Amino acid sequence: MRQIAIVGSGPAGYYTAEAAVKKWGDEARIDVFDKLPVPFGLIRTGVAPDHQSIKAVSRRYEKTAIGDTVRFVGNVEVGPDISIEELRELYDAVILATGAPKDRELRIDGADAKNVIGSAAFVGWYNGHPEFAALDPALDGRHAVVIGMGNVALDVARILSKTQAEFEGSDIVAHALDALRASRIETVTILGRRGPHQIMMTPKELGELMHLERASPHVDAADLPPVDDDAILEPGLRKSVTLLRDFAAIPEHLHGEKPVALEFDFFASPKAIESTDGAISAVVVERTTVEAGRAVSTGETYRVPADLLISCIGYQTSPIEGVPFDERAGRFANDEGRILPGLYCVGWAKRGPSGTIGTNRPDGYNVIDVVEQDIGAGARKEGREGFDALAQSRDLNVVTFRDWQKIEEAEIAAARDGAPREKFVDVEAMIAALGK
Ligand code: NAP
Repeated sequence: MRQIAIVGSGPAGYYTAEAAVKKWGDEARIDVFDKLPVPFGLIRTGVAPDHQSIKAVSRRYEKTAIGDTVRFVGNVEVGPDISIEELRELYDAVILATGAPKDRELRIDGADAKNVIGSAAFVGWYNGHPEFAALDPALDGRHAVVIGMGNVALDVARILSKTQAEFEGSDIVAHALDALRASRIETVTILGRRGPHQIMMTPKELGELMHLERASPHVDAADLPPVDDDAILEPGLRKSVTLLRDFAAIPEHLHGEKPVALEFDFFASPKAIESTDGAISAVVVERTTVEAGRAVSTGETYRVPADLLISCIGYQTSPIEGVPFDERAGRFANDEGRILPGLYCVGWAKRGPSGTIGTNRPDGYNVIDVVEQDIGAGARKEGREGFDALAQSRDLNVVTFRDWQKIEEAEIAAARDGAPREKFVDVEAMIAALGK
């Protein structure tokens, strides 16, 4: 019997569990740990609430989660509740699928001003992540600035722009819906330090901006390279750039019909943040040109007014004491997923924060192949039973998958009309729903 611990119950965690079941069937026991009492990580607290079709992938993880082979061990945090060393002693393989929950730091002068936040916090806030539920972002000013030209920047800009009716059918949490209803934001400037050919936004997500009820995307045609230059782009990026061209062609009178402007500002590298009474008032931006794909400073600067800044410049993995970490890449130091004997990583914790949810599937299958090469059939550790004894001795309040299903039932029962659920946004409320 192979005893496997997976730390993290997001896409990387559950695809890895799925791969382990496929490979070993009943010859393995797989415990999937999560520090929250609720599973699915990024699917629950990262994927935008108005992208329910993407969130539906959790149904696939449920199939893996139900049964005796795979077990959800919620409300148990590696560090305070159990150490990595203890897990390594108990399980034949410990696989870190902890994702990249921390914002990459915006290292410019003044970035510690009030109302300067990272996307992890803002996305966590509207998705009801307990750590960020109390964020209360400043939506009472007129200007928001979003830094970055990736899909997270698009999620953030879209959420800031939607009407209440457009959130119908989403599971955006009530505190965010209420705050957005009162929002006074009229301009969302999206700053990209490079040009239209270097955006990381994918066409489906970018195209959504065309259909917003009260917001309209603005692109300056002068920022776009000659159309023939698009021929060298890979097809997905070419489609995205074509959409930018469509945005640039929107006639002024149509913009005027919508009160919120989504301004794409290319060749714009943030340099400093100005503040008034400690709160952000503007971003100082340097004009760039792009040479051989790299942003090059021109020395010209200008100011973009800002009452709120959300930096969407990527994520990093949270280090764990005793686990080798690659500081530069912001993820665990690993070779094909191997970190130390018996310790592995997978997903964003292994390769950094890029790719779609589905990219984690082959990653999960690969790491299980690597584990198989290393432990073969010779695995003999205590595993699950040993953990249960330790959990009992420490009085850990472990949340099982059945427990989670009860929490989910309560969330479904509390849903507003048309919404799939109303999430609990703090751990105590989740536990209280279980009465344990
Ligand atoms: P991303 O795609 O890597 O985009 C990060 C953006 O931040 C880039 O435009 C980058 O510009 C910019 N940036 C980085 N450092 C910067 C700095 N110091 N100053 C200014 N700009 C800076 O990351 P992401 O948007 O966080 O997305 C992470 C992953 O999740 C991606 O694979 C994304 O596709 C995926 N995702 C998918 C969806 C979806 O499918 N619906 C939704 C959300 C996220 P440079 O290119 O110049 O470095």
